[in-house]
Amino acid sequence: MAQIVKRADKYRFYPTPEQAAEPLAIVWSRPLPDGAQPSTVTVSRDAAGRWFVSLLVQEKIRPLAPAQNAVGVDAGITALVTLSTGEKVANPRHEQRDRRRLARAQRTPARKRPGSGNRAKARLKVAKVYARIVDRRRDFLHQLSTRLVRENQVIAVEDLTIRNMIKNRRLARAISDASWRELRGMLAYKAAWCGRRLVVVDRWFPSSKLCSACGTVQEAMPLNVREWVCACGASHDRDVNAARNVLAAGLAES
Ligand SMILES: [Zn+2]
Repeated sequence: MAQIVKRADKYRFYPTPEQAAEPLAIVWSRPLPDGAQPSTVTVSRDAAGRWFVSLLVQEKIRPLAPAQNAVGVDAGITALVTLSTGEKVANPRHEQRDRRRLARAQRTPARKRPGSGNRAKARLKVAKVYARIVDRRRDFLHQLSTRLVRENQVIAVEDLTIRNMIKNRRLARAISDASWRELRGMLAYKAAWCGRRLVVVDRWFPSSKLCSACGTVQEAMPLNVREWVCACGASHDRDVNAARNVLAAGLAES
């Protein structure tokens, strides 16, 4: 165990000479590819006090065989994403409980005396809970992005700046924005690796108000309307309809 020295409002790690001579206990996220020679090694530490060593290696990735499918992806808050196929990908399990735990941990530091060791400890606790949420989400997003790239030749998503037009400072929204950004990044590089296309629909269009069946634009579509029926007779789930519109716009652009 590392020796922790408490100082004013910080915890610092000072290895003893014996600790400094010992090899570190390392958890590998995945094995190095066979024969890979790392060209860059990056060492970093996050707010939860965990150390990371990243190794940059060159690897040959074989593109996947072409797929027939195309999918539109709509980002949401209640569901993490909704697909044009009608599938709703829920937020990862544990997420609700983790969020409650985070909210509770976030209230604690303010109740401790500024500059005290207890305050520093409470802050570290917040960072740890947050780090766990982020880690679990990242695993989940990796699985989702790998699956979307494997199954589809074209993946259409809406541009982020459009989503940013709707401001909301709630925690749920902040987390969902962060994961959307992360998912987009993963989709972009995995699509490039595997010979797929990620189409970013960057022009604004009323994805929620537009009927994906007949193209009519509804006058109003309040946020609390989750399902609606168009005059053409098509009945829509709000998010699935939006995802279908994103797909259509993406295919038109590509
Ligand atoms: Zn219609």
